Amino acid sequence: MEKIIEATDLNKTFMLGAVAVEVLKDISLSIGKGEFITIMGPSGSGKSTLLYLLGGLDKPTSGKILIKGQDISVLSDEEESVMRRREVGFVFQFYNLIPNLTVEDNIMLPILLDGKKINKYSSKLEEILDIVELSDRKNHTPRELSGGQQQRVAIARALINEPDIILADEPTGNLDSKTSEEVMRLFQRINQEKGKTILQVSHSLETAKYGNRIINVKDGRVW
Ligand code: ADP
Ligand code: MG
Repeated sequence: MEKIIEATDLNKTFMLGAVAVEVLKDISLSIGKGEFITIMGPSGSGKSTLLYLLGGLDKPTSGKILIKGQDISVLSDEEESVMRRREVGFVFQFYNLIPNLTVEDNIMLPILLDGKKINKYSSKLEEILDIVELSDRKNHTPRELSGGQQQRVAIARALINEPDIILADEPTGNLDSKTSEEVMRLFQRINQEKGKTILQVSHSLETAKYGNRIINVKDGRVW
């Protein structure tokens, strides 16, 4: 299987005052293109830290990460943020939408940030609104939407730049079980029909069954 993310000997240490806290220890893993991975483990075990490293949102203390064969440590800050915007879409537990922007404007934000012309993306926007089933809500603001709808806006925003990789940190952690199921089915469609590689962090085996592989993290190690 073609590899899309490869991590070798990742270590991450946070300094809390004078105390070094080793959060990730000697993690090596590789993710195949088109996989749907669930990272599981106890609270505080380092799942989010690992996810952010794999997506280039944070840097390891030591070790190497290749995204689509590119060693991201050699990129300049500018190159790295371009890589992140184009190759990776992020979805968070609490949606992280901008409250006073409409659904449409929230989804288009990555395009704006990338300095691209918004009008070139109008058919793409319609296609994505259709996938997340929010075509009739595009002029609403987030506070007029349910939690599940807000998370679908966040998923649409993660898709607009057509990244190959979607990272999601406990995307259903704030949703009831029925809504979680809808969101997970949406991720599954995005994985199977659009071929996106998905890495989610989750506490629940229920949501892990939508993916093809579980990576277990405990005390900063993959086991
Ligand atoms: P999880 O997502 O599995 O709950 P995290 O990756 O968020 O775990 O955190 C793992 C550990 O790293 C925790 O002990 C947390 O307090 C610590 N940690 C995470 N981010 C930071 C940070 N920016 N500074 C200091 N410690 C951090
Ligand atoms: Mg976390």
